[in-house]
Parts: sequence; structure tokens; C-alpha cells
Amino acid sequence: MAENNVMDKLSSLAKRRGFIFQSSEIYGGLNACWDYGPMGVELKRNIKEFWWRSMTLLRDDIEGLDAAILMHPKVWETSGHVAHFTDPMVDCKKCKGRFRADEAVSGRCPKCGGELTEARQFNLMFKTFMGPVEEEAAIVYLRPETAQGIYVNFLNVLVPSRQKVPFGIAQIGKAFRNEISPGNFIFRMREFEQMEMQFFVHPKEDEKWFELWRQERMKWYHQLGIRKEKLRFHQHGPEELAHYAKAAYDIQYEFPFGWQELEGIHNRTDFDLSRHSQATGKELSYFDEPTKERFIPYIIETSAGCDRTLLTVLIDGYYEEEVKGETRSVLRLAPPIAPFKAAIFPLVNRDGMPEVATKIYDALRKKFKIFYDDKSAVGRRYRRMDEVGTPFCLTVDSQTLQDETVTIRERDTMQQTRHKISELAGILQKKVEI
Ligand code: ATP
Repeated sequence: MAENNVMDKLSSLAKRRGFIFQSSEIYGGLNACWDYGPMGVELKRNIKEFWWRSMTLLRDDIEGLDAAILMHPKVWETSGHVAHFTDPMVDCKKCKGRFRADEAVSGRCPKCGGELTEARQFNLMFKTFMGPVEEEAAIVYLRPETAQGIYVNFLNVLVPSRQKVPFGIAQIGKAFRNEISPGNFIFRMREFEQMEMQFFVHPKEDEKWFELWRQERMKWYHQLGIRKEKLRFHQHGPEELAHYAKAAYDIQYEFPFGWQELEGIHNRTDFDLSRHSQATGKELSYFDEPTKERFIPYIIETSAGCDRTLLTVLIDGYYEEEVKGETRSVLRLAPPIAPFKAAIFPLVNRDGMPEVATKIYDALRKKFKIFYDDKSAVGRRYRRMDEVGTPFCLTVDSQTLQDETVTIRERDTMQQTRHKISELAGILQKKVEI
């Protein structure tokens, strides 16, 4: 399949099958904002759950947080976002196109080759007003990252949770960036969701923890079922490093439009806590009881994009295959994140099959997201489930009525095997377990 074709095919499948729609589509759409439909919202929830589980459920040293999107405007001055969260922007004098300066590598307009203006700094933060008066003093920002909500809550989380450094705080939430050149479907959006974990460590242990989190995060993408050969690290050179960072790696995926960042892992030193402490006069250092040492923790940040991960699993899992002279489109999503875990079909709508199928459906739906389908030929029902990534289809047929078994058809191999109805919940549980 031609590489540029994949994005077109995926965005059309995403719309047709209810994964992703353009925001406000009937009004002509709002650029770089997207809505998740019935399949998309399940997939997204499952990805977030997969992350949350790995960060909080399976670890004793990480606590969860859900901070407000709107924060005190001084937070963004202290963090450096008001002054530095900018991209250089250029305008084309001929076609009036607007680009990030780094997209116009030749120094001419990437669209029409026209002459460009001098680069101007453009701040990516969205502003709004708090309270009824639209005046300067009432300006607040829509957060451009979730991390600051974690830093300002460092002590609030530390004290009641009785954690000791090293420990981390995890948060999933919306972030907003007025990107100059959004695009590539949901790759670069203006409203998106981040999954961030900030790990607080002793300054002398920063390199050890940085290395550990770098490896852990790569493992997470492997567990998500993404092909290993499509993932790599990209180390930031001195010219790429953010002003606050001592070291940084991106985890990149090979998208149809090239290798691009999926997640950033940064050693942010004591920059954040020191700055917030200076700005507020609040003591944000940590006292280590056993060593009687007081220090400002270093922060190891792992910052992932939920929407970008979702796009990646769609791209990575999308296959077209020739089966009996027909093209089968299939989404090979890992079972733990698939929107439906299984579908249940009565082979035909008579002879007591719908009754048995409904009974199985009612029993399984308490534990798993299951789809019941009794319309059209069974082959078409399989195809529809393949396209939304349902890993298993259970079919009730005439044999079921005699021996209480059903067929389980696996999405990837299309192999069918027979199993006792009483064993289905256990089999599914094992297959979809994280
Ligand atoms: P870029 O250089 O591509 O603008 P960044 O380095 O600014 O990205 P970070 O600030 O490190 O990105 O954000 C962490 C993660 O959040 C990214 O790896 C990505 O997965 C996600 N992310 C950032 N910006 C966007 C966006 N506009 N749309 C969707 N996801 C995004």
C-alpha cells in the first residue's frame, strides 16, 4: 500500500466506522479539532486505562492527580511559557500562507515558492478571560501541558500520600496549543490529551532514573502491540534541548509521513520546583529523614500524547489482505485496547439460536464490551468486526443447540475453534488481560 494512501484510508475508515470525526463538521469543521465517535471513545479510554494501570495500579511509587485546566496565570510566567512557548512563524507574501519557520527549509514558501516575511515569534498558548470583564488582569490560559499542574501540587500530593522521594505523580488530561501548522489527521491538534508522569528524585540519582524510565516507556509501547521495528529513540542534541533540560530522548514512530515524536522523556533537573518556589516564596524542597538531607528534587518527565498513541495504533494495526478474491481490511489492535473485546452472532435468526446468543451476550457484557449482531450474512459480520479491530467473534450455530459449544473466530488468523459456553468468560479474560 502506498504510504500516503494509508492516511487517506485510515481517516476514511475512522469516519465510516465511528472512530473519529472532524469537530463541528456540519459547520464546515474546526481546524485541528477532532471528535471521537462510539469506537474512538472506547479505544481512547482503553489506551488511557492501559497507561493509568501501568503507572498507578502496578506501582507503589506513583500517585494519580487530576488538576484543573485553568491555572493561576503566574504559573505560566514562572514556567517560562509566556516568554518562551513560541514558534517562529513566517508568512508568504504571495499566497498569504502561514508556516512554522522550520517548515520553510529552502527559505521560500513551501506551497508556492513565494517570498517569505521575516520570522516572528508566535506564542502557542490560548488565552481566555476569567470573570465578566475582558481586561488584561483577567487573562487566563488554557494549559498547553498538564505537567505544571503536577509541579504546583508536589507538596499537596507528597504529604497525604506519605510517599518518599523517589516517587512520581501521574496525570491524564486535555492540553491546548494554538499550533501554526496542525495536520496529518490527529497527529498535531490544537486540543489534545496528554498522559504525563513526573518522577521526583534525588539530584544524584537523576541519571539512573532517567535511564530506567526511558526503558520502561519503550516497553510500554511494545506491550501496546506496536511493531518494535517502527519504534526508536531520538536523543536531543545540545541545540534541540529545552532550556530547562539536562537530557532528553523522544520515542519516535515511523509514521507514513516520516519518523516523528510519540513521547518525550526529559531530565528537567530542579528547574521547575526551584522556579515555583522562588516565585511563590513557598518551600518546595524535600527533607530526607534517614540522611537528614534537604534538597530540591530533580524531575524525570515522561510526556506522552494520548491522541498520537491512538493514531499510532491505528496506523500500525491497519492491514489490507486478499481473502478469496476480496480485500479484507483489518485493524490488528491489541485485545486489551480494542473497542469491542468480542462480537456474538447467531448464525441464523431462528431455531432458538438468537435466544442462546442473547443469553451469552447478557452474561459476557457485564465484564466485557461486547457487540451483538444478527444482521446480514455471517461473513459480512466478520468483516465489519475486522475493520473495527474486534479480536474475537463468537458464533452460535446448530451444533450449539446440541452440545453447548460455540465457535471462536480469531481476527488475525481467521481460525475457528469450538469451546464450551461455560468457558467463554474465562477464555476471553485471559485473552484481553493486560
Ligand atoms: P512538537 O515538537 O511535535 O511540537 P513537543 O516536543 O512540543 O512536540 P511535548 O511538549 O514534549 O511535545 O509534548 C509531549 C507529547 O504530547 C508529544 O510527544 C505528543 O505525543 C503530544 N503532543 C504535543 N503536541 C501535540 C499536538 N499539537 N497534538 C497532539 N499531540 C501533541
